[in-house]
Order: sequence, then structure tokens, then C-alpha cells
Amino acid sequence: MTDHADPTAAPWTYETAAVQTAIPRGLGETIGFPIHAAAAFQFDTLEQAQEEFQVNDGLSYARLQNPTVRALEARLTALEGGAATVAVSTGQAATLTSILSVCRAGDHVVSAASLFGGSTGMLTNILPLMGITATLVDGTPEAIQAAMQPNTRVIWAEMISNPSGDVPDIAALADIAHAQGAVLAIDNTCGSVGYLCRPLEHGADIVSQSLTKWAGGHGSVMGGSVTVGTRHDVSRNPIFADGGASSILNVRGEAALAWRQRWLGAHQIGMTLAPHSAFLIAQGLETLGLRVQRESVTALALAQWLQAHPKVGKVSYVGLPDHRFHANAMKQLPRGQGAVLTFEVPDPSAFLSRIRVLRIAPNLGDVRTLVVHPWTTTHGRVPEAARYAAGVTPTTIRMSVGVEDLGDLQADIEQAL
Ligand SMILES: *Cc1c(COP(=O)(O)O)cnc(C)c1O
Repeated sequence: MTDHADPTAAPWTYETAAVQTAIPRGLGETIGFPIHAAAAFQFDTLEQAQEEFQVNDGLSYARLQNPTVRALEARLTALEGGAATVAVSTGQAATLTSILSVCRAGDHVVSAASLFGGSTGMLTNILPLMGITATLVDGTPEAIQAAMQPNTRVIWAEMISNPSGDVPDIAALADIAHAQGAVLAIDNTCGSVGYLCRPLEHGADIVSQSLTKWAGGHGSVMGGSVTVGTRHDVSRNPIFADGGASSILNVRGEAALAWRQRWLGAHQIGMTLAPHSAFLIAQGLETLGLRVQRESVTALALAQWLQAHPKVGKVSYVGLPDHRFHANAMKQLPRGQGAVLTFEVPDPSAFLSRIRVLRIAPNLGDVRTLVVHPWTTTHGRVPEAARYAAGVTPTTIRMSVGVEDLGDLQADIEQAL
């Protein structure tokens, strides 16, 4: 069987890597990704089985590894400029895998407070069940620094937070984490699998993301992934360092963090990505750059047009100069500032009842332009003060811009207003 798992085989640019990585050459090879529908893989001998199970972490049982999923992982590693990736079943599974890979009971997380709702839930509802606590603060280096504790093992932030568009200063947050042997984990869902931003190149240690959004891109599949680079140092984290000769660091060396993420997310907890999903996501990645480039251009044009519109209130888009994180965005998102913006309309209910091109749906990164009313849906259970802090008011509309024609989108918004 062809080995797909060699992301370093060719130093391709993003555009080439997106379509060429992990596609084998040869007579009769499929030109796209083959789907390996399998629960288990065969061995010829007892010795082979033992070798693959205990030494190679090879193909054995499909909760652990699958060739289709491996090929997707190789592609994600290449696109994020990382060293290794584990693909999991959802973005939520990626968040849990990332944090548990460096935290155990008694440990602490510092996070930027402007987060996807599911991430806030993970930090404040689920991790405490395992004895891990989190402090959520404003996403500036000063506020993050002030929240650090001796037991803080990870700083967490979103690249282009949802929906307020915060853009963390990755290098500054990495310095704060590294000064005490912690790691910086960036949720790069809106950084679009390295197309808009590659957090590892700015100093982050872990890239976690939902593949449901821009990677899949067509509202047809769910997935998540965790990618690590080569420069992280976990030697001051007892999870890796304790145990003398049998410590994870001693046994796994440089691959220790990546090994633990696969062991947690796939082997042990079983949040394994299905091969059919891996196929759809890998296919989505082939056009991700084209889609995100166009969506960013359209989103900026719409944001400028909405800002000048007499019937529209405050417009928030990190590509606009009046956004508080605009300078960070210009520094770290030179190819575009993404597809998500928010704006205020006089009567959200009337507006949403009239749209004919835009669609109401709680997803991001779809090829179709999707809108939601965060106050009553995505942020409906968030306390009111926190909703306002996140830039969500009773009249806010969140929009994830698709690949449709700019003029058609403007005409639809105009008639709906
Ligand atoms: C959607 C999303 C998630 C969760 O991903 P799922 O695939 O829905 O589990 C995590 N982080 C961000 C920024 C998201 O937008």
C-alpha cells in the first residue's frame, strides 16, 4: 500500500500543496483520494500484527488510523506548515484533544474570552468536570499575562474570533506562554487551514480547528484537526516529563505531543474521523484557497458598502480600519481578513424574512452566504453583558460571505432592508 504520510516530500506553495499533497502517482492510482471503508486491517503473521500494534503505530484497527484519514492529515500538515496532524470527528473534538494533550486535573487554561460558543462551553462546563479550570479574559497580551498562574499549561485564542473578529498577537502570546513552559494553542478555524494565517509560523505550538467550516466548505460534512509544529517545548510539563526513563518525552522524543494527541483524540476517547468525511474534507481543501480569497474580497467590499448605507448601523469587520484589532490583522492576515462580518439592522426579523439569496443557517465558511441573528440563536444562552462584550446586540446580524456575485448580494440586502 502506498504510504501517504510524507508531508515533507515536496516544499510546495500553498496552492500546489492543496491539490497535490497525498495523491500517489502510478498506474491505476485514483487521481483523487480513495475512500478506505474499513473497521480493521489485515496482517499476514502474528509477528507482523505485534510489530504494527506495539512498535509502528501502524494500520490495525480503524479507530486508531485509516489510510484516507492519514492522507487528509498529511494534507492538513502541509497546509498549516506543521510537523504532524491528527484529524478528529468535529471541531469540538479538536478543542478537547488540544487541551487535554497538555492539561490534567489541577492544571489551568488562560483563554481570550471572545470565542465560538462551543469553545466557551468546553472551557467553562466540560473541563472543570476533569479538574481543569480556565480563566477567560480580553484577548490582549496584557490581560492574558495578568491571568497567568503557575499551573497554567496552555493559552488559548481564536484567530479571527467569532463573531467580534478579534485577532490575537500570536508572537506576543507565544512569548508569554513559553516564558513559563506553557504552550500557545490557536483555534485557526477562521484562519482557514493556513490560507489566511499559519499560526505555527508566528510562534504558536498547537493549531486546533473545525474542518466543518472553510475546509469542508459546502455545508456537507463535519470534522476537526489538531496540528503541531516542531518548535514546541513540553519538557517543563509534568505530563511529559514525569516518569524518568518511561516518561512520554523519553519514550516518544520530539513526537511526544503529536503522539499524545492521537492517543487521546482517536485511540482512547474515540473521536475518530470517518473516512467518508475525510474524503469530503480533503476535496474541500482543494478549492479552499480560491474560495477564501474571493470571500475575503467580497466581505471587505460588502463591509465598506454597508458602512456607508443609511439604514445600517454599526458594521464590524477586522479588515476595516476602525476595528480594534485591525493592526494585528494587517500584520498576520496579509492575504485577506476572512469572510465573517456583523452589522446592525433596524428590524432583524423583518430583514431575515425578506432575504432571497442570503440564507439563515448557523454555519461558517459555506460557499453560500449564510446569516444568523446571534442574540436569539448562537449567543442565546450567553449572559446579556457577555453578549454585548462579544459585540452582539439585539439588532446584530452575523454574515459568513460565500462565493456568490457581489452585486447579487448587495441587491438582496438592499431589498431586504
Ligand atoms: C464551529 C467552530 C468550532 C467547533 O467546530 P464543530 O466542527 O462545530 O465541532 C470551534 N471553533 C470555532 C472557531 C468554530 O467556528
